[in-house]
Amino acid sequence: MKKNSRILIQGAGVAGLACAIWLGRNGFRPVVVEKAPDIRATGGFVICLSGASYRFADELGMMPALKQRDTDIYSASYHNSKGSTLLRLDYKELFKGVDFIQITRDEIEIVLYENAKELAEYRFSTSASKIEQVDSNKVQVEFTDGKQEEFDLVIGADGLYSTIRKLAFEESEVINHYLGLQVAAFKLENIAGLDHKFEYHMDRNRYMVLYSNRDGKLGSVFLWKSDQRNPVPIDQRWRILRESYQDASPLYKNVIEHFSDETPMYMDNLLQIEIKKWHKGRVVLLGDAAHCMTLLSGQGATTAFIDASHLCKSLIAHEPEQSFEYYEQKMRPSISKIQPATRKGAKWYIPETRARHFVRDSAMRYLPDSYFMRHFKKKYSRV
Ligand SMILES: Cc1cc2nc3c(=O)[nH]c(=O)nc-3n(C[C@H](O)[C@H](O)[C@H](O)COP(=O)(O)OP(=O)(O)OC[C@H]3O[C@@H](n4cnc5c(N)ncnc54)[C@H](O)[C@@H]3O)c2cc1C
Repeated sequence: MKKNSRILIQGAGVAGLACAIWLGRNGFRPVVVEKAPDIRATGGFVICLSGASYRFADELGMMPALKQRDTDIYSASYHNSKGSTLLRLDYKELFKGVDFIQITRDEIEIVLYENAKELAEYRFSTSASKIEQVDSNKVQVEFTDGKQEEFDLVIGADGLYSTIRKLAFEESEVINHYLGLQVAAFKLENIAGLDHKFEYHMDRNRYMVLYSNRDGKLGSVFLWKSDQRNPVPIDQRWRILRESYQDASPLYKNVIEHFSDETPMYMDNLLQIEIKKWHKGRVVLLGDAAHCMTLLSGQGATTAFIDASHLCKSLIAHEPEQSFEYYEQKMRPSISKIQPATRKGAKWYIPETRARHFVRDSAMRYLPDSYFMRHFKKKYSRV
């Protein structure tokens, strides 16, 4: 694609900021629009970079800064609803020889933004409100502040509920897979006294993960069965979480009842997005906007980073149409495997029947730890 081309990137998350770095460093003129008022406004849960995303981050020279912010979690333990230990994993052993770091999402974004901020123009509290393909090479975009501009390419990196997807694609082109689960995540004081550790508490219809953070706080993620399909308003989130865990053991309740209703908290439904083509004209979708796999895949951030890297590296040498095809060829085979595998796996995370619950807990208790070590090592080695 011609150097100097103006490229709109909507969304300053992992995918969008990675695009800004690749494109800005290679002579393009990216404009990043982000609906949040600043870069640190997103959640602080742990995500990991491994495989190709690790190598691309290294190629961009970001590894030293990312490693400095590694959560340094060395172990994980899994417990049943009565608190008995089912499985222990030693991460130092598990990830020996694997390119892998764990870092909170806000910290990845800080490192990405540090690298990207001089390479693009940023407009916060803004979003595209209308997109029109002017001809085969130009897209006219109208923004929420009323401005109108032409771009050579539009990248939709605006996450699960992507506005670019809604503006450029027909509703009938998008398949929504609801997993029937809801997630909440927030930080609190380290009341569990965890040290460099993940602790999974697995009930039948719900679970809770606690983990230690670099800042001394305790991270928590809750996952439970739910028919909820609409985003939950902020002022109702604590009530819904409390109701969903009202008959849980005190361990869960101590964490949940730590806060007042006013404390901000991340809450969402688990929803996968499937679209036959990730591009249309001069508009292309990346990351969760194109193919959200949900947190249960454990690979959403990794994949968003790889998407951005394949697409942008190709744009340096090729026309957009060729680059879109290249990006789809590289990414679609793995996404097509991960999405259904994650849906299947969800049934084991939150078993619907007592029999499945029994099999899950027994497998974790009686299969050798080496079985799980091999499983996780393979998963994080291949992306
Ligand atoms: C609790 C939890 C745990 C997770 N754990 C892992 C893990 O272990 N490993 C892993 O790889 N992944 C994990 N994920 C998934 C991972 O966070 C996402 O898949 C990844 O962040 C997707 O990146 P993205 O850039 O596509 O989208 P996002 O990170 O969602 O970024 C989208 C950006 O677009 C902005 N935006 C949205 N709409 C608009 C708009 N209309 N206009 C302008 N800007 C807009 C948003 O504010 C945001 O900044 C987890 C997710 C959750 C919720």
